[in-house]
Amino acid sequence: MVTRHKCLRCGHIWIPRQDKKPKWCPKCASPYWDKPRKVKKENK
Ligand SMILES: [Zn+2]
Repeated sequence: MVTRHKCLRCGHIWIPRQDKKPKWCPKCASPYWDKPRKVKKENK
């Protein structure tokens, strides 16, 4: 079974060498690649 990671920021999909969760996306280098952007309405 191949584990794949998908960056929720840029949509990049890659296969990690290690089982550990990568700290950032190899493409856009975002540390929040596994966290989708929160859509919050802020009226300030
Ligand atoms: Zn990315």
